[in-house]
Amino acid sequence: MMRADFLPLARPSAGPEEIEAVAEVLKSGWWTTGPKVAEFEREFAAYINYGGGMIYTAALNSCTSGLYLSLLALGVGAGDEVIVPTWTFAATAHVVEWTGARPVLCDIGEDSLNIDVGQAERLITKNTKAIIPVHIAGYPCNMEAIARLSEAHGLFVVEDAAHAIGTRYKGVKIGNFSTATAFSFYATKNLAMGEGGLVASKNPDLIEKIKKIGYFGINKEAFKRYDKRGTWFYDIETLGYKCNLDSIHAALGLVQLQKLDSMNSRRREIAAAYKNGLSARISYTKDSDEHYHTYHLFPITIPADVNRDALINELKDRNIGTSVHFRPLHLHSHYKGRSAAIDFPVADKVFPRILSLPMFPAMTDDDVEYVINNINELVGTYG
Ligand SMILES: *Cc1c(COP(=O)(O)O)cnc(C)c1O
Repeated sequence: MMRADFLPLARPSAGPEEIEAVAEVLKSGWWTTGPKVAEFEREFAAYINYGGGMIYTAALNSCTSGLYLSLLALGVGAGDEVIVPTWTFAATAHVVEWTGARPVLCDIGEDSLNIDVGQAERLITKNTKAIIPVHIAGYPCNMEAIARLSEAHGLFVVEDAAHAIGTRYKGVKIGNFSTATAFSFYATKNLAMGEGGLVASKNPDLIEKIKKIGYFGINKEAFKRYDKRGTWFYDIETLGYKCNLDSIHAALGLVQLQKLDSMNSRRREIAAAYKNGLSARISYTKDSDEHYHTYHLFPITIPADVNRDALINELKDRNIGTSVHFRPLHLHSHYKGRSAAIDFPVADKVFPRILSLPMFPAMTDDDVEYVINNINELVGTYG
């Protein structure tokens, strides 16, 4: 039976609590950065902290801002190189170029779709300053191998954790491992605000610096100037940008944070149902206790004899939304010829066969079954 309505790839979960929280901020008169944002920063730090020491956080208007400000605060700039996986969204590599440094693209591992740490090591030169691992779809990178690389070569690790809110590596949540970790609260992400982001670090000075350069280089935040205890005086200490988060988004985030574990559990249930029901000709990233996956996305690799783009259209005709995460950066016009003269055999091999299935907490069991039946039927018509 053909379903009547379109099943999207992703949809944020909003209930009366989100609407109430936003309405409260609107009524309070405090719309921009303020106490709600500070509360979100504290609550998010508490959520990811596993007891390994204090975690400091800077809430921002996006994960992209978080990655960019982290690199700037660490002094990355012209003449430097930063290693990033080719299998990611534009943000991960663009931020490197914005600083004046050069992004050096790296291949991925076929089982994880995450950066191939072995190839990353071969790409290190005397100019390499940092590496930006991306936890694709919510599956954690091999953080031990990355820590070894960072120690052996003196590299900063700035994690792109846009997909990895609640993800754990060997029992420890992402956000505890590196120099800086940037999260995204974009509308489709596991914790959604519409737009928003945050940097977590164990280094309070780094977080202070990120806040300062994320707010015009001014040494105090707006709300400290405008509330009763504040004074009008401020000093612009350095050139900064405008990347602060506002209270409307923070209020939404605080409610989403309360629901995050149950939303992530539902994502894991849906993933388990997909794995149980999908044809054996389809492969996907294996989950484990050591690699606690939070399934921001559910990418599958389809058999080589199936035409991926035809399959996407056939699924669309049956009211199923899908997408491709990601078209590797080295294939995009802007990055052609900008990366080191290396090959990306794994990314090139996987890309024509990759497809992301609908994945969001409000999907019903019937929705999941509908996707499984249609994929199995369509894939079964080939080979
Ligand atoms: C969504 C995303 C980002 C950017 O997040 P924003 O909050 O939209 O800036 C960065 N990297 C990856 C891998 C993403 O999927």
